[in-house]
Amino acid sequence: MTDSAQPLDGVARVVKRLRPGWRVGALLAVAIALFLWWTLAPDDAAILDAVKTRHNELVHWQQLAPWQSRAAYFAIYLVAAVLAIPGISVLTLAGGAVFGLGWGVLLVSFASSLGATLSFWLARYLLGDLLRARMGPRLLAVRSRLEREGALYLLSLRLIPLVPFGAVNLLMGLTNMRSRTFYAVSQVGMLTSTVVFVAAGQQLASIRSTSEVLSPALLATLVGLGAVVALLPSLATGLLERLRQRKLLAPWHSQRPRQFDTNLVVIGAGASGLVSAYVAAAAGAKVTLVEARTMGGDCLNYGCVPSKALIQSAKVAQQLRTAAQFGVQAPPVALDWPALMARIANVIASIAPHDSVERYTALGVDVLQGHARIVNPWVVEVTRPGISPQRIRTRAIVIAAGAQPVVPDLPGLQEVGFATSDTLWAQLAACNTLPSRIVVLGGGPIGCELGQAFARLGAAVSLVEAGERVLVREDEEVSALVQAALEGDGVQVRTGQTALRCRLSPGEPGSSDEKHLVVRNSATGQETTLAFDLLIVAVGRRARLSGYGLEALGLDGERTVPTNAYLQTVFPTIYAAGDVAGPYQLTHAAAHQAWYATVNALFGNFKRFAVHYRHLPQATFVAPEVARVGLNEQEAQAKGITYEATRFDLADLDRALCDAGSAPPTGFVKVLTAPGKDRILGVTIVAPQAAEMLAEYVLAMRHGLGLKAVLATVHAYPTFSEANKYVAGAWQRAHAPRVLLRLARAFHAWRRG
Ligand SMILES: Cc1cc2nc3c(=O)[nH]c(=O)nc-3n(C[C@H](O)[C@H](O)[C@H](O)COP(=O)(O)OP(=O)(O)OC[C@H]3O[C@@H](n4cnc5c(N)ncnc54)[C@H](O)[C@@H]3O)c2cc1C
Repeated sequence: MTDSAQPLDGVARVVKRLRPGWRVGALLAVAIALFLWWTLAPDDAAILDAVKTRHNELVHWQQLAPWQSRAAYFAIYLVAAVLAIPGISVLTLAGGAVFGLGWGVLLVSFASSLGATLSFWLARYLLGDLLRARMGPRLLAVRSRLEREGALYLLSLRLIPLVPFGAVNLLMGLTNMRSRTFYAVSQVGMLTSTVVFVAAGQQLASIRSTSEVLSPALLATLVGLGAVVALLPSLATGLLERLRQRKLLAPWHSQRPRQFDTNLVVIGAGASGLVSAYVAAAAGAKVTLVEARTMGGDCLNYGCVPSKALIQSAKVAQQLRTAAQFGVQAPPVALDWPALMARIANVIASIAPHDSVERYTALGVDVLQGHARIVNPWVVEVTRPGISPQRIRTRAIVIAAGAQPVVPDLPGLQEVGFATSDTLWAQLAACNTLPSRIVVLGGGPIGCELGQAFARLGAAVSLVEAGERVLVREDEEVSALVQAALEGDGVQVRTGQTALRCRLSPGEPGSSDEKHLVVRNSATGQETTLAFDLLIVAVGRRARLSGYGLEALGLDGERTVPTNAYLQTVFPTIYAAGDVAGPYQLTHAAAHQAWYATVNALFGNFKRFAVHYRHLPQATFVAPEVARVGLNEQEAQAKGITYEATRFDLADLDRALCDAGSAPPTGFVKVLTAPGKDRILGVTIVAPQAAEMLAEYVLAMRHGLGLKAVLATVHAYPTFSEANKYVAGAWQRAHAPRVLLRLARAFHAWRRG
């Protein structure tokens, strides 16, 4: 049932329908009432004296007109509870003194719970929208936790009489807690203190101050009880988790070794596995790193490094081709393909020592080059050619086995042949020239990067994307800009087109068969046949989940190895990091996760660290580059987070104008901030070196610095990073204190005489 569907929320719905003007009026009325009470009302001691003096009169009235007096007391108590005014505890004592224990508890309990609920509604509907709009991701996380476990937290707060009554109403009003739950939990939670105060009221004459009512022992008991209730969710979750883990490990228990050969076995020596082994060795642990293929994993051998080396060659070719725009005459661009591929191999070879067996052995890591298989939660078997399998008993395991390209089930695909990121570089190295017609399947980051690079090198490239736009995770304007850039470099971008099948047809006499991909336009249904020499499949990458023991453990989840916030699998000894764990498929995300997985695997019995991705930068190395940290507009809208967007176009940046050819520079810096604040929620940059420019914002967000700090930083002239300062300036202008500015203008006018 939704919140608004509850009968108790009738009043709330009425309040919600109030026009904004009325809401502001109501808010003002509440504020004035509170202000008047707090400034004019007598203090607790004076009210207590007044009640004592008039005690006999009040009791007499109660005897003469029991129902009227109870109704009047209830009404006064209700108003006091709604406004959470001081002196409410004296009112509770008076209830006991005048109406006795039974009626006193009844009246106070209902009036205080109803008053609290009214005040909860006021907070929700008068302040809620305003405060919710200003909540950052952290407050939203606290709020969602309160929503999940709110009833227990509320109970604990209500049990502790020291926690201000009004503050609790306000706080809970900002969550999505049901009103019915709030009412019921408040009534139960406040019952103990109500009984204590009402009972104490019966001995009113002997009470000098409300603080005497709660004995230190009683207060300590209530605080203790409250704390236990607050900890209940964590205690219960922890206990359940342990029970579940014990149950899971039970079938394996007989196989648990008494002694261990090593503290940690890391499976895979890619970005995550290398960092994991490094961290473990640095922490003094004995660690074994197993790699089945090449040290350095995908990033070094098939991913980031070769693709960025290729992109650099493509950039040089493009610069030569456009040299005339800069007043430089260059000869027609000619590729020395073997030399280009040799350069890529050299780049890999120059970085390889950083990830080598020698380096890691020197760091104290036992490196085994073989295939690892998890035998049970404590044993990994390593198979190496020519050596009998070796079983390693280990305290913990980090799975860092990476991901592999997804190959669609396309009729005829295997017959025509294709390349993925895994096989592309070897296939290209075997060619004497750049394949002249290339089809790239997939308009994600890898597809766009490779497609543009090959087009810049001179191939006729078609990029086929089933979705409506390329780089679908970015804002629409980013996709549009990137598509225009790709097309500007000669890529034929075919969005909204689905690959149907591949086929071979006989080529010219004496030459090999022609290869074709047939695509269908999703909007028109029209089919087109694309001839190609090389088909690159770049439709995504899936975690490597089979062939090394995950199946027997039930860890071969659908997309990735399932882990919790500590990167621990359901088995307490097995952790996962990098592409195999997801959700990001980035080298620096893999390295970031590796630290958490390793530290938790080695020290999790004492302290565990939950991984977070709040300030994770992401970059796509097309030209111009696309770089992002935090939220973009489409994510903010999907999550219902309100924001202000401020942007600065590179067309106005001096450095961009200096570097531009005949066309004006394209690109921008867009910063999302919390409404009315300079707090950065996310940044998207489209610029020639967007990934480098982004670092300033990653640092700012990581250390809680806002746009004002960026504006106050001196940036060298003329640089692209100045755009970061200008966007901060644009934000500052939009938020200039208008009254002060008007005053300043008047002041200067007066000075001019
Ligand atoms: C073309 C391309 C370009 C990319 N560009 C970028 C980029 O610019 N920036 C960026 O951040 N990211 C980029 N990436 C992504 C990046 O390469 C990956 O996110 C990163 O390599 C993931 O590291 P990992 O350690 O999780 O896995 P991997 O690097 O894949 O390492 C896993 C290793 O585990 C080994 N292994 C698997 N199973 C076993 C077993 N049973 N026994 C022993 N060893 C095993 C594998 O052989 C492999 O070496 C790119 C990827 C591609 C394909």
